[in-house]
Amino acid sequence: MLIGVPKEIKNHEYRVGLTPESVAELVAHGHTVLVETQAGIGIGAEDAAYAAAGAEIRETAAEIFAEAGMIVKVKEPQPVETEMLRPGQLLYTYLHLAPDPEQTRALIASGATAIAYETVTSPSGALPLLKPMSQVAGRMSIQAGATALEKAHGGRGVLLGGVPGVAPARVVVLGGGVVGFNAAQMAVGLGADVTILDRNPDVLERLSTHFESRAKTAYSTRTRVAELIAEADLVVGAVLIPGAAAPRLVSRADLATMKPGAVLVDVAIDQGGCFETSRATTHAEPTYEVDGIVHYCVANMPGAVARTSTYALNNVTLPFALRMADKGWREALLADPHLRNGLNVWDGRITCEAVAEALGYEF
Ligand code: NAD
Repeated sequence: MLIGVPKEIKNHEYRVGLTPESVAELVAHGHTVLVETQAGIGIGAEDAAYAAAGAEIRETAAEIFAEAGMIVKVKEPQPVETEMLRPGQLLYTYLHLAPDPEQTRALIASGATAIAYETVTSPSGALPLLKPMSQVAGRMSIQAGATALEKAHGGRGVLLGGVPGVAPARVVVLGGGVVGFNAAQMAVGLGADVTILDRNPDVLERLSTHFESRAKTAYSTRTRVAELIAEADLVVGAVLIPGAAAPRLVSRADLATMKPGAVLVDVAIDQGGCFETSRATTHAEPTYEVDGIVHYCVANMPGAVARTSTYALNNVTLPFALRMADKGWREALLADPHLRNGLNVWDGRITCEAVAEALGYEF
C-alpha cells in the first residue's frame, strides 16, 4: 500500500504520524511510505533518517495527499488538509469530532474514510490509542507541578521530595486512572507524600496493592477532597467521567483554605477542568494565579515532549497501521471490531454513535 505522512501543521504541534522505525517496519512488509520533507523535525528525525528507513521524501503535502491510499497523522486535519482528502482514501489520526461540527462536515464532504485514534477500543473496553497520551500527561503533571512550586515561578518554594530533616511536599492526586496512576508513580519516585483519591473501589484497591505504603488512597467525597487540598502543596486534577464534562471538585471558595503558593495542575482541562478556576493555557504561558494559588492548565501537555509522545503513540498505532496496510483497510476493519470502533466517517456518513449523537447526525 502507498502510505503518506504529511508534516503536522496545527499550531505548536511537533509530533509526527510515523517515526523512522515505524516506516522501516512498513517498508519491510513491502509497502511504500511517502514522508513530507521536515515532517519529523519536531522529534529530531531528519529526512535522512526517513530515507535510510526506506521512505520516499516528498516536497509538499499536496503530493502526499494526491498519491497515498492511507494518510497517517497525529492531529485532526486542518481545513487545507481536509480539502486535499479524496474518496477511497483512508485518514488515520486523532479526530475529536464531537465538539467540532465544521471539521465533521468537511470530512463527510471529502468522501474519505476516517479512523479516529481516540475511539479505537481494546477487548476490555479501554481506549488503547488514547492511553499513552494520558501516561505522558500524568508523568508530566508532576514535573510541571514541581517547577511551578519553585519560588521564581510563583510557587511556595517547596521541593517535592524534601531533604533529610525537612518533610517532603504533600501531593494530592484527584482520580486514580491512567493519568492519576502515572502522576502518583512520579510523585512517589521523587519522595513526595502522596494521596490518591478515586470513586471507584476497584481502582482504589488496585492503587493500594500497587503502591502499598508508598502512597495513601482515599475515597473521593467533598469533605475528604476539602480536607486534603487544604494541606496540599500540589494537587493534580486527573478525573474523568467518560463522555461528560469533568466534575468540579474544587471551588473558588476552596482556594482560600489552601496554602498560599500551592499549585493546582488540571490535566482534566481538556474536558473542561476539575477546578472551578481552571482555564486552558498553552506551553508558551502555562501558569496563572488565582487568589494566591498557581494554576497549570495546559490542554495539550504531550506536545511539549513530542519525541517521547510520538514514540509512545507509534507503539500503539503501528500494529493497526501494519494490519490495514497488509490486508487492505477495508478487510482489516471487517476483521476487527475494535478497529471498527475507530471508524468515524465512512462513505459520507458518520459511523461513530457518540459523534452522531453529539452533532445530530443519523446513525
Ligand atoms: P481514566 O478514565 O483512566 O481515569 C479517570 C479516573 O477518574 C477514573 O478512575 C474515575 O473513577 C475517576 N473519577 C471520576 N470521578 C471522580 C471523582 N469525583 N473523584 C475522584 N475520582 C473520580 O482517565 P485518564 O486517562 O486518566 O484521563 C484523565 C483526564 O486527563 C481526561 O480528561 C483526559 O482527557 C485528560 N488528559 C489530558 C491531557 C492534557 O494534555 N491536558 C492529556 C491526556 C489526558
